[in-house]
Amino acid sequence: MLNRLIYAFVVFAMLLTIPNMSLNFFEKKFNFTGEAIVKENKSKNANTKPEEKHTTDTYESELIKVYNNKTNDVIVIDFEEYLKGVVASEMPAEFHAEALKAQAVSARTYLLYRLKKYPNGQPEHTKAPVCTGNHCQVWSSKDELIASHYDGWYDEYWSKIEEAVESTKGQILTYAGKIIEPLYHSTSGGRTENSEDVFSLAVPYLRSVESPYEGDSPKLNGSVKITTNEFIDKIESVYGDMDIREDNLDEKILLGEVSEGGKIKTIIIDNNEISGREIRSLFNLNSTNFSFIQSGNEIEILTTGYGHGVGMSQWGAEGMAKEGYNYQEILKHYYTGVEIVNMK
Ligand SMILES: [Zn+2]
Repeated sequence: MLNRLIYAFVVFAMLLTIPNMSLNFFEKKFNFTGEAIVKENKSKNANTKPEEKHTTDTYESELIKVYNNKTNDVIVIDFEEYLKGVVASEMPAEFHAEALKAQAVSARTYLLYRLKKYPNGQPEHTKAPVCTGNHCQVWSSKDELIASHYDGWYDEYWSKIEEAVESTKGQILTYAGKIIEPLYHSTSGGRTENSEDVFSLAVPYLRSVESPYEGDSPKLNGSVKITTNEFIDKIESVYGDMDIREDNLDEKILLGEVSEGGKIKTIIIDNNEISGREIRSLFNLNSTNFSFIQSGNEIEILTTGYGHGVGMSQWGAEGMAKEGYNYQEILKHYYTGVEIVNMK
């Protein structure tokens, strides 16, 4: 007999004690496509000129230093040229022009935030404020981009990348007059996260918002399969021996706390509270929005979304752009209460 147990449902009774969370958790799974974010005044990508607001924030020099994780060298590169290498690395160039512009403004803001916070070097790469890897925001040179794409990619798409950066030149995001740290990620799974549910700090512009247009993301749904024994061994190798066996996992694994964005903050395994982030790392999952399905001696871990879930969803931005929203609307949707301003 197929012993198929869906733990998420087993623990549903527990979730009923926190009704708002349980609604978010399950609603999202079954009603993912959601409703339009802004029902009125949809712009159909029409770009009004961003607010004629200016900030005194600016960069001291047109040239910036970037630590190259691959070569351990420091590259000196033009500020806006660097952004082109970020936009092309962080988003597929096939994305809608408005999504690419949203990425360009986010990348510029992130860079300036880093330059101001770490003018002499970030603690993990002390020679430069930003690096070329995932640790900061991914940057690739033109040669690397050409080598990693199909023949003809450069001719077809480079001008589109340039346009995204040049048409938004100097534009950055501020909140209450200050530059923001515009975190972004691949795919939220339907709703983004409050910053304090993922990192320690509650940031007013990094609030949980709907992200309903991620249907095209290849990372929307993920799956990891392992044997029950491997699952138990991995858990016990980190957290010590527990009273968990193939035939009692459904009783021993309980859902703890769920974030407003629908991701798992904690689960309880045999009375041990373990964070969703630790489980994500332990089983190399795409996100902390996961559930377990056991079939006999195999466990499948299903995930929704990809990345930390805070700030702008890149696939959500693409979906919004296809729905007719322009880059300003996309940015203001994902970063609560921000303004788009021009650097002097
Ligand atoms: Zn870095």
